[in-house]
Amino acid sequence: MLKRVLIANRGEIALRIIGTARRLGIETVAVGSEPDLALPFARAADVVVPIGPGPAGESYLAADKIIAAARETGADAIHPGYGFLAENADFAEAVAAAGLVFVGPQPDAMRKLGGKAQAKAIAIAAGVPVVPGYHGEEQRPDILAGAARGVGYPVMIKAVAGGGGRGMRLVENEAEFAPLLASAQREAEAAFGDPRVLIEKVVAAPRHIEVQVFGDSHGDVVHLFERDCSLQRRNQKVIEEAPAPGMTRQLRAAMTAAAVELAKSVGYQGAGTVEFLVEGGGLGADAPWYFIEMNTRLQVEHPVTEAVTGLDLVEWQLRVAAGERLPLEQGEIVSAGHAVEARLCAEDAARGFLPSVGRIARFETPAGEGLRIDAGVETGSVISPFYDSMVAKLVAAGPDRAAAIDRLTRALEQTMVAGVKTNAAFLHALLVHPAFRRGEVDTGFIGRELAGLAPQGIDAHAVAHGVECLIRRRQDELEAQRLRLSPERHSPWAALDGFQLGPQRRQSLDVLVDGVRTAVEVRWDRSGPHVELPGGDAAPPAQRGQVSAVADGDRVLVLHDLRQTEIAWALRDGAMADEASAGSAIRAPINGRVAKVFLAEGAAVDKGQRIAVIEAMKMEHVLVAPRAGTIARIAVDEGQQVTEGALLAGLVDE
Ligand code: ADP
Ligand code: ADP
Ligand code: MG
Repeated sequence: MLKRVLIANRGEIALRIIGTARRLGIETVAVGSEPDLALPFARAADVVVPIGPGPAGESYLAADKIIAAARETGADAIHPGYGFLAENADFAEAVAAAGLVFVGPQPDAMRKLGGKAQAKAIAIAAGVPVVPGYHGEEQRPDILAGAARGVGYPVMIKAVAGGGGRGMRLVENEAEFAPLLASAQREAEAAFGDPRVLIEKVVAAPRHIEVQVFGDSHGDVVHLFERDCSLQRRNQKVIEEAPAPGMTRQLRAAMTAAAVELAKSVGYQGAGTVEFLVEGGGLGADAPWYFIEMNTRLQVEHPVTEAVTGLDLVEWQLRVAAGERLPLEQGEIVSAGHAVEARLCAEDAARGFLPSVGRIARFETPAGEGLRIDAGVETGSVISPFYDSMVAKLVAAGPDRAAAIDRLTRALEQTMVAGVKTNAAFLHALLVHPAFRRGEVDTGFIGRELAGLAPQGIDAHAVAHGVECLIRRRQDELEAQRLRLSPERHSPWAALDGFQLGPQRRQSLDVLVDGVRTAVEVRWDRSGPHVELPGGDAAPPAQRGQVSAVADGDRVLVLHDLRQTEIAWALRDGAMADEASAGSAIRAPINGRVAKVFLAEGAAVDKGQRIAVIEAMKMEHVLVAPRAGTIARIAVDEGQQVTEGALLAGLVDE
């Protein structure tokens, strides 16, 4: 068996691999970028090696630094986790050349199956149905446009090297083709260093069904049944489960056999996932199904397979990498019960799922029967803008689907994250949605239902609660000052001193609600301050869920209905109060990297025209002109890192 494994990854997956290695008596080496060294995974390993600054290119993607760290620490193997170098055949080869074991498939199989284009060719050769389309080498825009016309609109443009939903664009008609092709190529180049794309027919109402396969170095390949990952937002998985609801025996037999056949055709070793789309929403024996890609690595959602099979997939990976036979034969692998996973991400679902960065002031997750929480963070951890926004996976298992979903729903309700926004309310809305409960979803479900799933607008109840907390805190401070006999005449809170005068007063106050200046009405009576949001539709008390507040420095983080609202005083010193120029300033909505600036100073723009693209946490955010005008100033360069609120461009009237 292996003696010491280096984990070339971070966060929850690094921690999860360390857990299994430790149970098997294998020592662990973590590598961490500077902002990550305080995270739980870096502490959990037997040894941690700092490998560089935050940007992945200088740390988790720096193959030579990682191999050097393995050599220096005497590791005999490298586990790549997922993302980063996990599907990089050159890295796998370099690991082997350094005399180390790569915990994953052989570079040759990765090369054959890692790219979507060649994988489709191999699938066709193995008799596996693929989505009709163009997956040739020729990449000239006119040739690709011709291929799209041949396939027939709508078409899907996909990065050949793609993953995580990046570099993928749905094109409705020919007019949109050229700009969407350019944007897909740019994203693919930035994310994978490879701008090549393929064109596919759009499968109607697809279910995303994938089969977990495992091969060993003795020529055996087995499958561990299927997972259903149809709940997706922008082609990225949100909730996954096993088994797939409504899966017919015949379809399961056909798809698992095809997956094993494909893996066998390249002598596949280690863990892999063969992804398919099933057309039409159902999983009947006759439903058309197509191979889309193979992921030559462990999958984010592997825990649902572990929950229903009772197996540890990382243990299997380590055993196979050490040259052992697969622990079980096909007939010995059984699936029992049901499991569901939800990806908890640091993102602001009410603001278009913008990534949310910052220090986590509180992180609490429940424990209980049938529950598994794989978290990469803890109270005090800092979410940086460099990596994926997923902070934890919540996995629930039960005897049947309803029981598993109920458990996961309760687990979400008991999860408390303060300091960054999360998608918890969105996940909860999905789990309780009647269509999801009936198992009637396809990959377009979230897109169609988004308005009812993502929380909207301001949470008036949370604002009122937060402002009351701020006022009480201010009162305590004033009281303490009075006791010290040192009145602060020029206090920025002077307006509040009025509240000391007596009951039944009303006053209008400015606060920052999630950074946005907002006026609130405060009414006092003997029981204290009562806050109302003008125009706010505060729910009647009976309908209000539990609310709690976490004081964090100058701000109060209010948790209510699985959402966080941040409340702070609006200072009058100008720093925040530049609404006067707000219409003309184009600011970065998040911390990130300026991926593209479309215009130069002096350019005339129409309302809605693209100005720049900010890239953060794997996503591109396009900033458009809020109105027509002239670009008076471009304040950033392409490639530059910017912080949230930084000025990108200035817009003036023509
Ligand atoms: P899966 O197909 O296993 O569900 P995805 O295709 O969504 O997973 O991507 C794999 C995972 O790898 C991501 O969810 C993320 O956690 C991680 N990942 C991928 N790319 C990166 C990256 N550039 N930086 C950090 N993490 C990444
Ligand atoms: P990635 O490498 O980013 O995981 P995939 O090829 O696996 O890319 O596709 C991810 C998701 O995008 C699929 O699960 C599906 O929801 C959607 N998708 C991909 N190809 C098609 C297609 N041809 N028609 C409809 N949806 C598609
Ligand atoms: Mg995929």
